[in-house]
Amino acid sequence: MTPDTLEQVATEVISCKKCRLHETRRTAVPGEGSKTTRVMFIGEAPGEQEDTQGRPFVGAAGKLLTELLTSIGLKREEVFITNIVKCRPPDNRPPRKDESLLCKPYLDRQLKLVNPRIICPMGNSAIRTIMSLDQSVSELHGVPFEIGSTTYLPIYHPAAALYTFSLRKVMEEDCRKLKGLLESLD
Ligand code: URA
Ligand code: SF4
Repeated sequence: MTPDTLEQVATEVISCKKCRLHETRRTAVPGEGSKTTRVMFIGEAPGEQEDTQGRPFVGAAGKLLTELLTSIGLKREEVFITNIVKCRPPDNRPPRKDESLLCKPYLDRQLKLVNPRIICPMGNSAIRTIMSLDQSVSELHGVPFEIGSTTYLPIYHPAAALYTFSLRKVMEEDCRKLKGLLESLD
């Protein structure tokens, strides 16, 4: 059997019809970034811009994510960015549990292939799906959580900081914690 690759995952995602979201998507959004990065960011689901362009976090929330990365000296292309579900839910509704479960094997393969030291789930959907924790992001953000050799650092979803301006400062602070964690790996 040929070894799995990120390109192979992306190819399968683009033509995937495993859940109902394929019926309404324009373009599936596999995710993008460095194959060898130490940090992976995981959002909820593509929005309108992402669905149009086929790339993750390219709308308003993405602009804020890119700025936050810049503020700690990281470029987008130096990290890996993806979502729990790879297709846009209609009207940007939250992904349903069955959709997340059907899509999860793609994320699991990406995690295995990139093998990041730090995973940042952004917002409640990502925290629930990948950390299997029921507490909300308001309780968990900015606190590193070790599972095996991987550190999880939950953060707010950047879209939340677009609605609630004060969260931007909180996100900046959490990103500084991420910077500290990355430095401690050096
Ligand atoms: N929100 C997300 O959760 N993911 C994106 O890719 C864009 C907005
Ligand atoms: Fe397939 Fe995931 Fe898209 Fe559903 S959301 S069709 S499981 S790629």
